[in-house]
Amino acid sequence: MDLLVRIQDITENKLLQYEGDHPMKKMDELQKVVGEQKREVHYQFNLTRSGRFLLVKGAVEGTLVFDCDRCLEPFDFPQQEKFRVTLLPAESQRTLFGDQDMSEEELEVGIYQGECLDLKTIMEEQILLGIPMKKICSDTCRGICSQCGNNLNVNNCSCSPPDNSDHPFAGLRQ
Ligand SMILES: [Zn+2]
Ligand SMILES: [Zn+2]
Repeated sequence: MDLLVRIQDITENKLLQYEGDHPMKKMDELQKVVGEQKREVHYQFNLTRSGRFLLVKGAVEGTLVFDCDRCLEPFDFPQQEKFRVTLLPAESQRTLFGDQDMSEEELEVGIYQGECLDLKTIMEEQILLGIPMKKICSDTCRGICSQCGNNLNVNNCSCSPPDNSDHPFAGLRQ
């Protein structure tokens, strides 16, 4: 599937619109960060231009599958991201910022270069930005027992809590 848009086709007086579904397994960066994903992302893009700036407005919607950090079970993580990105040509970045060594991440705007804009890269970045640091299946997830490995969401086990054995009240639990 071709998600490349020719820069010269993005003009001031026209709004280019794209909408469709893209398989996550074709997103290499995403797979690198969160492992194999088999579903599709629904995307919408509106592209226009203001002078040399490209104005990108869009939305991505999909469901990732993560392994929970606490109980290690896979769970669905629905995602809906709306975004607005301004892209300026790589040459004008040098003009604007001179010799300062600014990376793309430090700018509030992105960079475009070459003949085409790759919509796949933009949506992949937006999905990655929306991924939480801690991936927990539920706020009430009880995780796994550190002693026997039992999933405490499914069953209790009879292991005693590890740090309470010499607690003065430990005996009262029995
Ligand atoms: Zn969990
Ligand atoms: Zn246990």
